[in-house]
Amino acid sequence: MKIGFLGGYLLVLVFGYVLQYLNLKHNWEWRYEIPPGFEGELSPDVQEKTASYNLAGEKVSLVESMAEEGLFLIFFFSVLFPLYDRWISSLSDSFILNGVLFFLGLLVFQTLFKIPFSYHHTFVLEEKFGFNRSTLRLWLSDLVKTALISVVLISFLTTGAFWLVQATSLWWLWVWVFLTLVSLFLMVISPYLIEPLFFKFKPVDDEELATGVESIVGRAGLQVSRVLQVDASRRSGHSNAYFTGIGKVKRIVLFDTLIEQMSKAEILAVLAHEIGHWKKRHILKRLLLTVGSSFVGIGLAFLLIQSGFLPTFLGLESLSFPAQLMVLSVLGKIVLFPVTPLSAWLSRRHEREADLYAVSLTEKPLDLASALIKLARENLAGLFPHPLYAWFYFSHPPLVERVGFLRGLQIKEIKTKEQ
Ligand SMILES: [Zn+2]
Repeated sequence: MKIGFLGGYLLVLVFGYVLQYLNLKHNWEWRYEIPPGFEGELSPDVQEKTASYNLAGEKVSLVESMAEEGLFLIFFFSVLFPLYDRWISSLSDSFILNGVLFFLGLLVFQTLFKIPFSYHHTFVLEEKFGFNRSTLRLWLSDLVKTALISVVLISFLTTGAFWLVQATSLWWLWVWVFLTLVSLFLMVISPYLIEPLFFKFKPVDDEELATGVESIVGRAGLQVSRVLQVDASRRSGHSNAYFTGIGKVKRIVLFDTLIEQMSKAEILAVLAHEIGHWKKRHILKRLLLTVGSSFVGIGLAFLLIQSGFLPTFLGLESLSFPAQLMVLSVLGKIVLFPVTPLSAWLSRRHEREADLYAVSLTEKPLDLASALIKLARENLAGLFPHPLYAWFYFSHPPLVERVGFLRGLQIKEIKTKEQ
């Protein structure tokens, strides 16, 4: 059983690495190609820099992932895991406290492991390619804040869930209700309590742009107070925009770096795309999907724990409750891996819907196309992902495909006008 479990895990890992390698190779071999629609937009300098940036980034992420997975394999599939489990169990007689300590201990290891990689990412890789704008002080304060938030969240979630396990017989149902309510609560309070710890949000301050924002948001029937700009430039030169939240806390956020880099028409096109996510209720749809699948997942977890079968996956006779949860999470990682393309496909479908909505709102497909080209250029995004890699993982249609699609819409629009 243990060999099969380990084999499944290794299979998933190797498959992921093969895809990553194919992608890296594909991007590298095509690095001097100019895709349709990008003519005159990419100098050989930019192409060279993009290829080097992506190669360097992929190398670091590969080293990190291999080190992390290697350590994990040694820990989880050796005697270390039951030893850790027994050590934690010996610390207290309380079921709840043992659960909290079990997960906090893992968090400590994981955080310590990630520190050097995070430092290297910010102050070596991003610095070298001119993206880093963070200081050591800011980076350290982010690190401490994130760690504290994780400690509070893990302690709270584990305490609540473990208390329900102890106090109720249909615990899986109550745990599901509890986790769902906490996730909804976090979505609501995050813009007021968590995000301001890291970023400052304010209404768009450029007057001319603000007028454009007001007009386009008004046409879509939304409130302008829901469009904010964020001081992302304090940490990085990368640019982006996003839509988030449900109910009354829905909002669209534009990075100040995006506002710096793009023309007014391009910014409004990006904004229209985000409005598309809002109007098509994408966040809500994904949330319902997550809540539904966690219902099934927690139900199955309950059945597996009840069966008493989980320790045998590691060739052991017994494991504590939190340790069994960890076995489940590893099992989940293997079983859910083949579903990755489905989730990516759904996300790409939403992105396409948002692009279409943006075009129907602005009636200018080329504005969004040129915004995407600029986004690719300024962020040194690789334009030639391996098709299999893109199909498996990409949350957005590849940029070249999106630009091609928008140009197609422009041609259609001109033809309809001519008729
Ligand atoms: Zn989008």
